[in-house]
Amino acid sequence: MSYHQLRIAKIIQETPDARSFVLEVPGDLAAKFQYRAGQFLTFRVPYADGAFNRCYSLSSAPGIDSLPKVTVKRVGGGKGSNWFHDALKEGGTLDVLPPAGRFVLDAGDAPVLLFGGGSGITPMMSLIKSALKEGQRHLRLFYANRDKPSIIFDAEFEALMKANPGRLEIIHHLDATQGLTKPEEILAALKGFEVAEAYLCGPGPFMALVESTLIAAGMPRERVHIERFEASGNDAVPVEPTEGEVIPSEITIHFEGKTHKVPYQKGQTILVAARAAGLNPLSSCEEGFCASCAAKSIKGKVVLANNDIYTADDLANNWILTCQGHCFGPEVEITYDVV
Ligand SMILES: Cc1cc2nc3c(=O)[nH]c(=O)nc-3n(C[C@H](O)[C@H](O)[C@H](O)COP(=O)(O)OP(=O)(O)OC[C@H]3O[C@@H](n4cnc5c(N)ncnc54)[C@H](O)[C@@H]3O)c2cc1C
Repeated sequence: MSYHQLRIAKIIQETPDARSFVLEVPGDLAAKFQYRAGQFLTFRVPYADGAFNRCYSLSSAPGIDSLPKVTVKRVGGGKGSNWFHDALKEGGTLDVLPPAGRFVLDAGDAPVLLFGGGSGITPMMSLIKSALKEGQRHLRLFYANRDKPSIIFDAEFEALMKANPGRLEIIHHLDATQGLTKPEEILAALKGFEVAEAYLCGPGPFMALVESTLIAAGMPRERVHIERFEASGNDAVPVEPTEGEVIPSEITIHFEGKTHKVPYQKGQTILVAARAAGLNPLSSCEEGFCASCAAKSIKGKVVLANNDIYTADDLANNWILTCQGHCFGPEVEITYDVV
C-alpha cells in the first residue's frame, strides 16, 4: 500500500467548479493501477500544516478509457479540492495509492437504477459506461444538480444515450427550478425498475432520502449500494476484549523514523491514541475503506473493527488500518514507516 507518483496528462474543465484530472500510469505500475468501475484513488495532498489525504472516485471506465481519470468538484473552504483546482498543472505529479473500494457493479443482470447528486456522479459515470459495454442491462440514472451549468458530464451522458438507444435513460432534477429532491420523484424513478440493483452517491441528505424511500417502497437493503463521500457519522464499532484479556496502558509506535511510547486506553483506536500523543499520521475516511492510515503491526494483537479494503493476504502480512485498530495484550508495537 505505498504511494506512487503519477503524472497529470490532462486537466479538463468539466463545469465552472469541476475539473477532471487524467493520469498517466507507467508500464511497471499498470497491474497495480488496474481498477474496477466504481472504485476510487487516494491522493496525498502536501500542505503547509502537514500532508493529508483525499479520496476521489474514478470517473473513467476500465477497458474503455485508456487512462484513469478523477473528477474533483470545488468545495467552498475545502482544503483538498481547492488545492486540486488551484495548485495542479498538466505535467505535474500526484502521490497516489492504488485503486480501492467496493462500490462496484454486482455480477447479476438485473437492471441498474442509479441516483447521483452533484459530484456523486463520478463513480456513476464509470459504472454506466462499464455496464453499457459489458452486457445488456437497462440503466436509469436519476441525476440531481443545483442548476443546468453545474451538471457534470452533461454532454457525455447525452452522447452515451444516443449511442445506446433504449438502454440508458436519464432523469434530470434541478434544485434551481424544482427545489430539493422529493420522495415522489424517487418513487417515479423506481417505477419499472422495482427489480433493479440501486446505486447511490451524492450529498448526505440526498442519499438518506433516496435510501429510505427505496427501502420503504420495498427494495431489499442488499440491493441498495451506497458510496459515501463524507463520513457517515456512525459511531465506531466497539471492540471488546475477550475474557481475561488485558489492554495495554501504552503502545509503541514507529513514525517518521522515531519510536514513540504512546499512552493507550481501552476503546481507543491506534490513530486516536497516536494523535492524542501529538503524532500526525495520514488519515482520510476514518471508516476503514481508504487505507490512508495504513501501518503494519510488529508485535501484539491488533483487532480491526472494520476492514473494507484488506484481503486475507494483506492481513496475513500484518497490514492494519490504524483508524480501526484496537490493541490487546501486554505489548503492542506498530509501524507507520512502511508506506
Ligand atoms: C470514497 C470517496 C470518493 C470520493 N470521490 C469524490 C469525487 O469523485 N469527486 C469529488 O469532488 N469528491 C469526492 N469525494 C470527496 C472528497 O474526498 C473530499 O471530501 C472533498 O473534495 C472535500 O474535501 P476538501 O479537502 O476540499 O474539503 P475539507 O477541507 O475536508 O472541507 C469539507 C467541508 O467542511 C468545511 N470545513 C472545513 N473545515 C472547516 C472548519 N474548520 N469549520 C467549519 N467547516 C469546515 C468546508 O468548508 C467544506 O464545506 C470522495 C470521498 C470519498 C470518501
